Amino acid sequence: MKRETVVVLDFGGQYNQLIARRVRECGVYCEIYSYRTDLEKIKERNPKGIIFTGGPNSCYEAGAPTYTREIFNLGIPVLGICYGAQLMMHLLGGKVEKAPVREYGKIEVNTDASSKIFGDVSPKTICWMSHNDYISQLAPGFRASAFTDNCPYAAMEDESRDLYALQFHPEVLHTQEGKKMLSNFVYKVCGCAGDWKMDSFVEETIQAIRKKVGSGRALCALSGGVDSSVAAVLMSKAIGSQLTCVFVDHGLLRKKEGDEVEAVFGPSGPYDLNFIRVNAQERFYEKLKGVEEPEQKRKIIGEEFIRVFEEEAKKIGAVDFLVQGTIYPDVVESGVGGESTVIKSHHNVGGLPDYVDFKEIIEPLRDLFKDEVRQAGLELGIPDYLGFRQPFPGPGLGIRIIGEITAEKVKMVQDADAIWREEIAAAGWDKKVNQYFAALTNMKSVGVMGDERTYDYAIALRAVTTTDFMTAESAEIPWEVIGKATSRIVNEVKHVNRVLYDCTGKPPATIEFE
Ligand code: GLN
Repeated sequence: MKRETVVVLDFGGQYNQLIARRVRECGVYCEIYSYRTDLEKIKERNPKGIIFTGGPNSCYEAGAPTYTREIFNLGIPVLGICYGAQLMMHLLGGKVEKAPVREYGKIEVNTDASSKIFGDVSPKTICWMSHNDYISQLAPGFRASAFTDNCPYAAMEDESRDLYALQFHPEVLHTQEGKKMLSNFVYKVCGCAGDWKMDSFVEETIQAIRKKVGSGRALCALSGGVDSSVAAVLMSKAIGSQLTCVFVDHGLLRKKEGDEVEAVFGPSGPYDLNFIRVNAQERFYEKLKGVEEPEQKRKIIGEEFIRVFEEEAKKIGAVDFLVQGTIYPDVVESGVGGESTVIKSHHNVGGLPDYVDFKEIIEPLRDLFKDEVRQAGLELGIPDYLGFRQPFPGPGLGIRIIGEITAEKVKMVQDADAIWREEIAAAGWDKKVNQYFAALTNMKSVGVMGDERTYDYAIALRAVTTTDFMTAESAEIPWEVIGKATSRIVNEVKHVNRVLYDCTGKPPATIEFE
C-alpha cells in the first residue's frame, strides 16, 4: 500500500502518540519512530514531512537524545515541537539554555500571520507550554514567527528550507488551534493531498488480505473486544470461510459476554466464517493459581491464549495465518515503535512465543489508533454496540482482580461490574463516559451486615472520560448513581462489603488497575 506518510521522530515525550493521531485526523498517515532510528530507514519511508517530538532532556547536555544534522538537508520539511524545536536550533547553530522563567500551562501566544503555520490562526492564541529550557538565539537563517511575554521565540522558521519549530505543544487539546497548525504543516508546508481515509483503508486492507492469504486458511484470535471483532469482520469480508475464528472463553470475561460473542460471530450471526468457542476457564484458573504479580499474570494469560490456539489449529489441520487484533498504541507502548518505555507488555505483541506453529501473523489493525478502528468498524457495517463497545483488555478481568485470581473472585467482579454497567446505562451516563468498570481490590476490611461482623472484599468502581485513552480524567458520576450501584453491589454480590470510587486520572494512575 502506497500512501503519503509523515514520520514522527520520538525524543521521549509523553504525548508523542498524540502527534501522530492529530496528523492522521487531518487525513495524513503518520508513523512514529524512535530517534535511534537510522536516517537511511527514515529515508526509505519516503516521508512527506518529519516531526520531532518533545522530550524530557535538555538538548545541550551530554548524552541527550539527538539526531544527525543531515536530516535537515533532505529537502523534506521538518517541524520541531518543544524539545524537537530546541534540538533543531541547537543542531543548526542557535542557542538553547535554561530559561529565566519556566513556562507551564496555557499561555497566550502572539503569532505572525505571514507564516504558513499561522496563516489562518488567530493573532493571539492559547497554546500549551511545558518547558524549562528556552531558545535564546535563533539558528542562522531562521526568523521568529511567534512570541509570548516570557519567550521571545515561541515559534520560528526558515521557510526557504521548510524548517519549522514550535516551543509549545500543538498536539494537545489545550492548544486551541493546534490542530489547525498541524494541518497547515502537513498541507501547506508538506503539500500532502490527504489520502488517509477509513473507507479506502478498509477497501485496500481487504484486497491486501486476499492477496496475502490466497487460498490459505487463517485462524483468528477472537476475544470479543472491539479490536479483535473488527479484525475478524475485516478478515471475514476478505476471505469468508477460509477464516476460522477461535473464541477462547478464558473465564476472565465480563458477565454473559461469552454468549454475546457467540450470538454475533456464531452460526446464527451475520458473518461468513467458521466459529469455534473453547471453554478453557478451568485451564486458565489452574495456570494462574497463586500468581499475584500483574506482569506475570498478563504473560501467563497471553501464553495460554497462544497455546489454546495452537491446539485448536492442530485440530483444524493446516493453518497458514494467525490473525491478531493488535493496534498501533499496543505496538508503540510495547516499545517497538517509538521511544516510550515499556509501561505494560501487551499480550498481542510481547508474549508471543517463538515456537508458534503458524506460517505468519496477520495484524490487519496494526497501524490504527483506537478511534480509527471504530471508524473502520462502522465502514464495515458492524453493529454500533460492537464498534462502540468500551475497550476491554486482552487479559480481561485478570487485571481487574488485584492479586491472585480465583473462580470465586471472578464471579464477584463479574457481578459487581454488571451492576455498575447497568446503573451507568440506566442513568444515561454510558454515552458520557468512555470507560467504566468494576475491579476487585485485594483488600479485605471489616463491615457490619445484619448486626454481624463481616470481613470481606472491597470493590472499586471506575469511570473515566478521555478522548484518546492516553490521558484520562475520573468522571464526576452523580452521587445517586454511585449510591445506587453501591447498595446493589453490597446486597447482591456475596463477599463484598465495601465499594470505593476511583478518583484518580491517568496519569498518574492507569485506567486499568494492573
Ligand atoms: N526538556 C525540555 C525543556 O524543559 C523540553 C520539554 C518538552 O519537550 N516538553 O524545555
